[in-house]
Amino acid sequence: MEQRYYQKEIETMPVEQIKAMQSEKLVKQVQHVWDNVPYYRNLMEQKGVTPADIKGIEDLHKLPFLTKSDLRDAYPYGLLAKPLKDCVRIQSTSGTTGRRVVAFYTQKDVDLWEDCCARAIVAVGGTNEDVCQVAYGYGLFTGGPGLNGGSHKVGCLTLPMSSGNTERQVQFMQDLNATILCCTPSYAAYIGEYLAEHGISPDDIALKAGIFGAEPWTEEMRRGIEKSLGIKAYDIYGLTETSGPGVAFECSEQTGMHINEDHFLAEIIDPDTGEVLPEGSKGELVFTALDKEAFPLLRYRTRDICVLSRKKCSCGRTLIKMAKPMGRSDDMLIIRGVNVFPSQIETVLLNEGYQPNYQIVVDRVGNNDTFEVNVEMAPEHFSDTVSALTALEKSLAGALKTMLGINPTVHLVPPKSITRSEGKAVRVIDKRKLHD
Ligand code: ADP
Ligand code: ZN
Repeated sequence: MEQRYYQKEIETMPVEQIKAMQSEKLVKQVQHVWDNVPYYRNLMEQKGVTPADIKGIEDLHKLPFLTKSDLRDAYPYGLLAKPLKDCVRIQSTSGTTGRRVVAFYTQKDVDLWEDCCARAIVAVGGTNEDVCQVAYGYGLFTGGPGLNGGSHKVGCLTLPMSSGNTERQVQFMQDLNATILCCTPSYAAYIGEYLAEHGISPDDIALKAGIFGAEPWTEEMRRGIEKSLGIKAYDIYGLTETSGPGVAFECSEQTGMHINEDHFLAEIIDPDTGEVLPEGSKGELVFTALDKEAFPLLRYRTRDICVLSRKKCSCGRTLIKMAKPMGRSDDMLIIRGVNVFPSQIETVLLNEGYQPNYQIVVDRVGNNDTFEVNVEMAPEHFSDTVSALTALEKSLAGALKTMLGINPTVHLVPPKSITRSEGKAVRVIDKRKLHD
């Protein structure tokens, strides 16, 4: 495939030039925040830093971090850097981990965000000849509006479906020959399941690529979706606090996502000490928004755990890459003293031939954690004897123990008994929190 870019000059800019651009933007952005956001100015003063101390990206480490709890404290207007009359949009987090956060956008902010999404669409081969079905939720959630805007910019015929109503979703996909699907990976897996159940083969639809993100998903899940929809599935990353999807996107090489680093300056830190770690280290991802006017977060701690790499990419883009985040530091469960990420469980399930329909239930009885994994059995197991099912449960528990180091109780539950998600999947029910 001939490599295409949406903004070639930026996407293939020599690294030194990008860094110089970042330095220049950072100096201006720090001044903008200092002048307009008393909340952050106060944090800077507490750390004894002024805009004069920030001469370029080498001084970034001097700035204080912002955390999700700062966003909650400052709710709703405390981090706003532009008068409300200059803002044209509000979006909000999906509230996966607590109270919602609201983010504000000027028209320029919306425009740059949509450019980022357009880069992602072009990177999967999208052109003005494509029909782009946006099945992320529309509304406060950033998924729908972001990809919708990007799709318009590329000139695709945009189907603003929003999530849900799978029957209509599939009908439009077929009738209007959608070629690119954008939604959460859980919803893509569900659409795949729906097609199979209704006897629609991947050859009966025109889809060629999917842009899936907003939640963690494994390589195994990617292969499952690619097979069930007959497409190539690409990852996209973002968060409301930094605008939405499109902060980073996958290219044809599919070895991590290019960060749109002309707009978002990334660091990896040790989540415990806050120390900046060298490239290639695993740690917490921190972003500084270099161009955002209305909601310009500096050194925002995402709590997403990942790795950055500047390894040369075959697609020709020079933008730094981030690995697929393994999950948020706050998605990580500590069960019987052992760190467990839902993504590890998903990897085992898919390797063992199960579908990614599962739920993890953790509770505490006395001083002991209980750890159950409910997994849907494959339809062919439905008629198995009780002893055959027990044997399957034991074998799956053994595979999970090998991966995690602790033993779960596995329950095989009937097909379709775990609620399907049209947005982000709910994988964990931690009842221990309810007792606190
Ligand atoms: P919430 O925090 O309520 O879920 P958002 O909708 O803004 O709010 O979600 C942003 C978060 O979603 C990111 O911080 C990250 O944890 C997760 N996320 C987004 N895209 C991806 C992706 N491609 N892979 C893994 N996680 C992702
Ligand atoms: Zn690339």
